[in-house]
Amino acid sequence: MTRKIAIVGAGQSGLQTGIGLLKAGYEVSILSNRTGEQIKAGKVMSSQCMFDMALQNERDLGINFWENDCPPVEGIGLRVPDPANAGSNLIEWAARLDKPAQSVDQRVKMPVWMDEFVRLGGDLQIRDVDVDVLEELAKAYDLVLLAAGKGDIVGLFERDAERSTFDKPQRALALTYVHGMKPMEPFSRVAFNLIPGVGEYFCFPALTSSGPCEIMVFEGIPGGPMDCWQDVKTPQEHLSRSLEIVKNFAPAEVERCQGIELTDDNGIIAGRFPPTVRKPVATLPSGRKIMGIADALVVNDPITGQGSNNASKCSRIYLDAIQARGDQPFDDEWMNATFEAYWAYANGVVDWTNSLLVPPQPHTLELLGAAQQSPSLAARIANGFNDPTRFMPWWTDAAATQDVVQTHIASGA
Ligand SMILES: Cc1cc2nc3c(=O)[nH]c(=O)nc-3n(C[C@H](O)[C@H](O)[C@H](O)COP(=O)(O)OP(=O)(O)OC[C@H]3O[C@@H](n4cnc5c(N)ncnc54)[C@H](O)[C@@H]3O)c2cc1C
Repeated sequence: MTRKIAIVGAGQSGLQTGIGLLKAGYEVSILSNRTGEQIKAGKVMSSQCMFDMALQNERDLGINFWENDCPPVEGIGLRVPDPANAGSNLIEWAARLDKPAQSVDQRVKMPVWMDEFVRLGGDLQIRDVDVDVLEELAKAYDLVLLAAGKGDIVGLFERDAERSTFDKPQRALALTYVHGMKPMEPFSRVAFNLIPGVGEYFCFPALTSSGPCEIMVFEGIPGGPMDCWQDVKTPQEHLSRSLEIVKNFAPAEVERCQGIELTDDNGIIAGRFPPTVRKPVATLPSGRKIMGIADALVVNDPITGQGSNNASKCSRIYLDAIQARGDQPFDDEWMNATFEAYWAYANGVVDWTNSLLVPPQPHTLELLGAAQQSPSLAARIANGFNDPTRFMPWWTDAAATQDVVQTHIASGA
């Protein structure tokens, strides 16, 4: 008999998993609290820069519909401006990615994936899911996956205090989608500016509803001068505040921003949330179990741009585990083991991401500085974004960092 799976949430993980399951012959329902039209007409949700491994999961499912239209992100660049010397930098390097990254506005991507899900025979229901609906689903389906991202409903999963490093937001976040930014030469990149004591500003090319654009991402340390969005009331004020921040804290980026304008009035967002890891299984009042996926269980600060990448990779692991399960029940044990298979990967991403939210260790500064002398080290750091587990253990372990630095410097590459 065909197995029936319900997924709550039509985001990166929900739709990727739903489409994957349909293609593997499962009967799938996705429940979304917003229609495709509402998503399309709504505010931006993410900057969603995805690297090759994560993009490959989409290619494997044949849902990489924007590969030719989306401008490539060809590299990673890092600048640490010198606070004592406006316009000059303490650290500055850039390196190419082995394979390009891409960012497709989720307002463009999710409505098309929703249509594709329906075209493939999926059952798409527009419903704001609560515990009563989850009970209905858990009774009628073999497995219920909660893919609700940062929705309140994910509070059903207990916070894992041991695996959660923080209990408060670590950055005041804002996004500004713009047209007219001067491209980076000689290759496009995520241009990171790490501003000591203030936060981070980075930007990179993307595809939005009105074509190619750049996304400006602001990560202000709470209470600091980049935590400055509370009094912003209009889209134009949001753009002006974005430009003020660039002028004050990332002056090397000012010239690129001379002619920028918002892609649209919804191409902005500001907010904050605490990075959190949750336990993977929730028990409903009836005693039935449901399971979380992606951000519902592991939500990272966007500082390292890993959330959609994680969602894609988590989806892949769950898809494989569901198929490997054959006709056996999706019980508590299977749910926990499946999440642990994902956590074996996500753990390293969380550690790396969290290390960048606290004041940098001396060995990390030494590493980032050494990359300026060693293009091969810069390339190694840049390509770690594709699979951050490759940073471990040497990113967090001072002695191992020194070995890596010395090896690269000694090789003269
Ligand atoms: C400012 C910012 C910048 C980011 N930048 C990047 C980046 O550069 N690179 C990157 O990889 N990631 C980035 N991310 C993170 C990335 O967007 C998320 O990690 C990713 O979208 C998570 O996918 P998901 O499927 O878990 O959840 P989502 O994509 O959030 O999808 C959840 C879905 O569930 C629906 N939903 C919620 N509650 C309910 C309910 N009760 N009933 C029905 N439906 C419900 C929502 O409407 C939504 O459609 C960023 C995030 C933010 C906030």
